[in-house]
Amino acid sequence: MDYPGNLFVVSAPSGAGKSTLVKALLELDSQAHRSISHTTRAPRGQEKHGREYFFASEQEFDAMVAGNAFVEWANVHGNRYGTSKKAIEERISQGADIVLEIDFQGALQIKQAFANAVLVFILPPSWEELRSRLERRGEDSAEVIERRLRNAAHEMAQVEKFDFVIINEMFERALFDLKAIVHAQRLKYAAQRRARASTFESLNIT
Ligand code: 5GP
Repeated sequence: MDYPGNLFVVSAPSGAGKSTLVKALLELDSQAHRSISHTTRAPRGQEKHGREYFFASEQEFDAMVAGNAFVEWANVHGNRYGTSKKAIEERISQGADIVLEIDFQGALQIKQAFANAVLVFILPPSWEELRSRLERRGEDSAEVIERRLRNAAHEMAQVEKFDFVIINEMFERALFDLKAIVHAQRLKYAAQRRARASTFESLNIT
């Protein structure tokens, strides 16, 4: 089914800079909105229910899975995360562009449900840089960093299933690439036809 809004899915191994890039995109682009996922993990630091995530108990999450409320869900680093089907459908049918920042398993499920979804994978420029970004972040113990690096090899092997690849070597360049992908989607015939209906009409294009 064709919706007036676009669905962008951004995935990356942890440390590749996905969250910073998506945050910068959304600050610059008032037409694009981030989807808020449900998760069973506990809030971190300043995180607020309904802002970063909807925090759910295992039972609440189970009930949503049983009730078919998720368009995708996955177990990531030991916690469950899912995207509400209703929230996505409502917003893209109203013409909003939605950005999902989810892991590769979720991205591939989204493509099954929404064939027009645009899948973007962000790669680090090298293993050395990925490791040093995880270390510099100072969030994780050495053991967690090693686990994240092991997971990264498996995650990066999925890149061939994505539509676009951004190599996040220089932040500004990577942001430019992400904006270009979003912009190109909006220049597609069907999108222009909707957004610029009066121009098409004045040019007598039927
Ligand atoms: P964090 O707990 O650090 O916020 O996120 C951990 C991982 O879960 C990240 O890779 C993030 O992209 C992924 N994630 C967040 N929300 C969702 C979701 O709704 N579905 C899936 N499949 N992954 C998600």
